[in-house]
Amino acid sequence: MRSYRAFLDRAIRSPEAFWAEEAKLIEWQRPFSRVLDYSRPPFARWFVDGTTNLCHNAIDRHLAARAEQPALIYVSTEIDVEQTFTFRQLHQEVNRFAACLKGLGVVRGDRVLIYMPMVPEAVFAMLACARIGAIHSVVFGGFASLSLASRIDDAQPKLIVSADAGSRAGRIVPYKALLDEAIERSKAPPGSVLLVDRGLAPMRRLAGRDHDYAELRSRHLDAAVPCEWLEASEPSYILYTSGTTGQPKGVQRDTGGHAVALASSMGKIFCCNAGETYFATSDIGWVVGHSYIVYGPLLAGMATVLYEGTPVRPDGAILWRIVERHRVSVMFSAPTAIRVLKKQDPALLKRHDLSSLRLLFLAGEPLDEPTARWISEGLGKPVVDNYWQTETGWPILAIARGVEAIPAKFGSPGLPCYGYSVKLYDEHTGQEVGPNTKGVLAIEGPLPPGCMTTVWGDDERFVKTYWHSVPGRTVYSTFDWGIRDDDGYYFILGRTDDVINVAGHRLGTREIEESICSHPGIAEVAVVGVADQLKGQVAVAFAVVRDARAVELPQQRKNLEAEVMKQVDSQLGAVARPARVHFVTALPKTRSGKLLRRSVQAICEGRDPGDLTTIEDPTALEQIRSALVSA
Ligand code: ATP
Ligand code: MG
Repeated sequence: MRSYRAFLDRAIRSPEAFWAEEAKLIEWQRPFSRVLDYSRPPFARWFVDGTTNLCHNAIDRHLAARAEQPALIYVSTEIDVEQTFTFRQLHQEVNRFAACLKGLGVVRGDRVLIYMPMVPEAVFAMLACARIGAIHSVVFGGFASLSLASRIDDAQPKLIVSADAGSRAGRIVPYKALLDEAIERSKAPPGSVLLVDRGLAPMRRLAGRDHDYAELRSRHLDAAVPCEWLEASEPSYILYTSGTTGQPKGVQRDTGGHAVALASSMGKIFCCNAGETYFATSDIGWVVGHSYIVYGPLLAGMATVLYEGTPVRPDGAILWRIVERHRVSVMFSAPTAIRVLKKQDPALLKRHDLSSLRLLFLAGEPLDEPTARWISEGLGKPVVDNYWQTETGWPILAIARGVEAIPAKFGSPGLPCYGYSVKLYDEHTGQEVGPNTKGVLAIEGPLPPGCMTTVWGDDERFVKTYWHSVPGRTVYSTFDWGIRDDDGYYFILGRTDDVINVAGHRLGTREIEESICSHPGIAEVAVVGVADQLKGQVAVAFAVVRDARAVELPQQRKNLEAEVMKQVDSQLGAVARPARVHFVTALPKTRSGKLLRRSVQAICEGRDPGDLTTIEDPTALEQIRSALVSA
């Protein structure tokens, strides 16, 4: 523990010396003249005057040592295809893509919106943008036209890259028609659309605007497009947050800090080595996909798996089959994916040879102890919780096992990652709280390299949204609520607005959810606070059972509800006991798998559920409604 503490200390006390050292992990065209410019807080500029290129660092620089090694491994259980691109082949494809973009008039600083399924061309497009200095904005392929249109309006892309269709759980999902609809709605329609035709769905093409990628590519087979050398603080991409707590924000990422932070995290947090294979089950439309499907592994000289498919098709062992087949060393997934697997036969975890796998990282939502134990024991591998946000681009809290493998504690993502000065404040007084006291989690500026530099096109919103929520202080905060124990480990209790107040007692919905989840019959649960005349608020739970047959009859539901309540009583006390436990087969989540507690709460209180453009499955909200009616 002493060596990690010292490391963390050095990063906070002498950030310039610390990050100058980490900056050696990437190649610079021109060295930076200053490590940090924080003359205009809270805006931080890292590696001032240094020029570099993300695509160069992700691909070109590896050609000398590993041109013939795999770089991108595409696995689709949707269309039954597997295709591996070596670094040399990836380089070639990215050059071709870059030539197409340039041919369509895209230049440095232009935005390119990428609305694509999980196919290699999506990765080529991202890297090609990075190569020519265009700013990509990947929009999750599952979004419908309204969400897409609002992002087009905000980013104002010169060009959009898209495809005829994606496929989800074996069903074709047409993209092009949605895109046309979105462009029609949008106030800033792009000049061109570049289309990858997968042959999955018919598409109409608009002459003069829509271009066929295969056709254009064939004209640029031998393209060699030089990298644009960007100043470190030039934007590399814009990515919109999930929208769990409201209107998505356009997170702007720089170039130099981004490259350094990711390269550093690959070794110090993810314990990876060049030549190995990394597998993140996320989607390129999310930040995990940006950082740890595309840029991180490639910067580290690793092969990365791009998986188009679900964790349960053709069966619940598919992720492990991919690990075995491609000798995956390190995996990254989300608690929500593991909860899906929990409803499957645990024997599936043992079916494949997982000897190559060293670590499984999980992030995106609180990792409850029962889920962590289930997967860790099932696989016989350490599971590493890590806490971060679209805004930060890499972990804020984790056990940086590459620095020192200090012991983990269940329920805690660990300690602050080097570079983050993490604090907990009383939300009313703004005073720092001591150990074992709940507080608002915040980070003192400057944010370390790799974190968002501003909200795209709106510096004021950046300052207002992120830096002014703790009274009397200018600290970065996104309303997460946490607690630190005597050993300095942090526990995330959920969002500050997930706190409920029952007869004067403040309870985190997460604590109640954890307790309910530890019941062997429950796979997943959402707890919300609902206004109550007598107590102020009461907790109401919506639970998904592992086996639907267990709640078929009214009497069964009653019994299970009573059991769950008893369990909460004994673990947390009667004050935390939910007033009702309803059983549903699905919970309303964002497309990135986060619970939409606010919408559930609104429905329980008879209010409008709010902006639902990012919801995964609208019928899940219907289930909440009918559960309430039939209760
Ligand atoms: P928006 O900001 O638009 O409401 P969002 O916060 O859901 O959307 P993300 O940036 O994808 O968008 O999610 C980051 C949030 O996810 C964190 O602020 C935290 O609430 C939660 N989170 C991520 N990882 C963890 C973790 N390991 N443990 C607990 N919570 C986590
Ligand atoms: Mg957020």
